Amino acid sequence: MKRISKDSVIYAMSKDNKPALYVEPSEQVVFETWDALHGQVEDADKGISELNWERVNPATGPVYVSGAQPGDVLSVKIEKIEVAETGVALCGPGMGVMGGQLKETTTKIIPIEGDVAHYSDSLSLPLNKMVGVIGVAPKEGEISNGVPDMHGGNMDCKEVREGATILLPVNVPGALFALGDIHAIMADGEISVTGLEVAGEVTVTIELIKNEDLPVPMIINADYVMTLASDEDLDIAVDMAVSNMVAYLTKFKGFTPEDAVILMSLIADVRICQVVDPKKTARVEFPKKYIK
Ligand code: CA
Repeated sequence: MKRISKDSVIYAMSKDNKPALYVEPSEQVVFETWDALHGQVEDADKGISELNWERVNPATGPVYVSGAQPGDVLSVKIEKIEVAETGVALCGPGMGVMGGQLKETTTKIIPIEGDVAHYSDSLSLPLNKMVGVIGVAPKEGEISNGVPDMHGGNMDCKEVREGATILLPVNVPGALFALGDIHAIMADGEISVTGLEVAGEVTVTIELIKNEDLPVPMIINADYVMTLASDEDLDIAVDMAVSNMVAYLTKFKGFTPEDAVILMSLIADVRICQVVDPKKTARVEFPKKYIK
């Protein structure tokens, strides 16, 4: 098993990033990751005013996948997510859904023990570990790790969890895959602008799918096939995610568009991943038991 240290850090996905590790398809890789604030908030008193915003949303990578060529699909199975013993969550002016109404920044340092986070003396919450930033280099230019798009990025989707397989496009040779931004817990929406941000380690198996024009990014788990899409306008993100699921069902599963639409209206949930990043992310979940 290969390992990539959190010293190999990038703040934007780009074809110009130098590969930090070379892997063959089917290899397992352990990514050490910083939290989304790059470890800058260690105690609740430090405050957000001292935060260096140039150093937020670090991702570990990129990994060059041997044989990956533009047009392929990268399949990344999340085998394991391990988290540190402390996480941080915050809210404040200008951040998140309520940022216009909050007067000061409030930071909460939350201890994690086993499978729970101790939110307060009287409230412990079960962990719901997920990876916030996961993506590949775009074809041209660079995309800040804070932004989700077709290449993946900061989708902040709670379904990027242990056991799930994330499908991403390959836009450049080697794909240049990176991930970071583990949340020990997060709910759909991520309304404050953070999950329970935590450092940790993510073990993945990376595979290549050749010659399949899948409407990526997608997630597949034991029960659902999901399409994801991001846009400044959540309505547009929803339209794109729905349209991508219709494309998947018609192209790969033998549905007519009309049948796909009617059936989706009955059994496929449209959900929100997050509404607080520069682009908002929506997903559609189609139950696998109804497709071959
Ligand atoms: Ca994030």
